[in-house]
Amino acid sequence: MIDLNNPEVKFALHAVRQACQVVQHVQADMVSPALTKEDRSPVTVADFASQAVVAWLLTQDFPEDPLVAEENAEALRQPSGRQMLELVTHYIAQFTPQATPESVCDWVDKGATEPGPRFWCLDPIDGTKGFLRGDQYAVALALLVEGKVQLGVLGCPNLTDAYRPDICGTGSLVIASRSQGTWVTPLDYPGEFSPLHVSERVKPSNARVLRSFESRHTNITQIDEFVQIMGVRAEPIRMDSQAKYAVLASGKGDLLLRLLSTSQPDYREKIWDQAAGSIILEEAGGRITDILGKELDFNQGRTLAKNRGICASNKHLHRTALKTLDAIGAWSGD
Ligand code: AMP
Ligand code: MG
Repeated sequence: MIDLNNPEVKFALHAVRQACQVVQHVQADMVSPALTKEDRSPVTVADFASQAVVAWLLTQDFPEDPLVAEENAEALRQPSGRQMLELVTHYIAQFTPQATPESVCDWVDKGATEPGPRFWCLDPIDGTKGFLRGDQYAVALALLVEGKVQLGVLGCPNLTDAYRPDICGTGSLVIASRSQGTWVTPLDYPGEFSPLHVSERVKPSNARVLRSFESRHTNITQIDEFVQIMGVRAEPIRMDSQAKYAVLASGKGDLLLRLLSTSQPDYREKIWDQAAGSIILEEAGGRITDILGKELDFNQGRTLAKNRGICASNKHLHRTALKTLDAIGAWSGD
């Protein structure tokens, strides 16, 4: 069982819950069917607010610990960003009376650090497209020490029991700590933690493949080829964000692919897009490498500069998946 009295575990669970709460408030207030596709302001407000909340809590619990996160406050500090800043501050003021436009900028900027020997890594909203669509998204927080992920928490407001898409349901709070397994509890009212384990599926034809919802984040042509060569019968499951890792960890999916998109063949994964998800999968018994079979190297700054794409699995299907990726030349991105 996970040690719920461990201060890092306590902080991570609390911070992700608070961040999910603020993000859900913003969504309820600002995301409406009338929203035009170009208007990304709800996700911008929610992104900043989520990052500010986690950074503020971190300064309280671990004031010496750096945060490496997706956003910075540059745009908020411009005169043109003033309205946005007021709005973000309004949401943060519901958590702490210390929230002023200046302190909010400082908290957001806490995340603009370069990775060091020990740091927290945050994606304030992973799956922003899913958030705007009212679909899957996640708040993802991880603790990295000497280049290894030691702790990961995913808050998935629209996923119940770590696998079931359930819009406005109980949500899932998933946690993994090195050598202590992967566990899930309801996000809206954490109580009992249940263990998660990957599937035992070994036959490629029965595999359930997970892929990004957004076609531009992966390579659809190659995924189709992959599925055909492996003899996979079911259509790939399209899902936004690291919620995919929770689904894999709970045994309701067997393979996850992030292939290099033709529009951006040199894209490198951001560490906050993989850190929490990777330990959640590994501690549930799964395996994660890049598409060439290399271990993920979290020692290369803010991106996985030495890796290309992602291949994640229930472990049993990993070798076959890598062989197939090699056969279709997935590393080349075309
Ligand atoms: P997903 O929810 O699987 O679509 O992944 C979302 C993440 O994909 C975002 O957080 C982005 O950081 C990342 N992303 C953005 N552009 C690309 C790209 N061209 N290839 C792969 N991932 C990307
Ligand atoms: Mg992301």
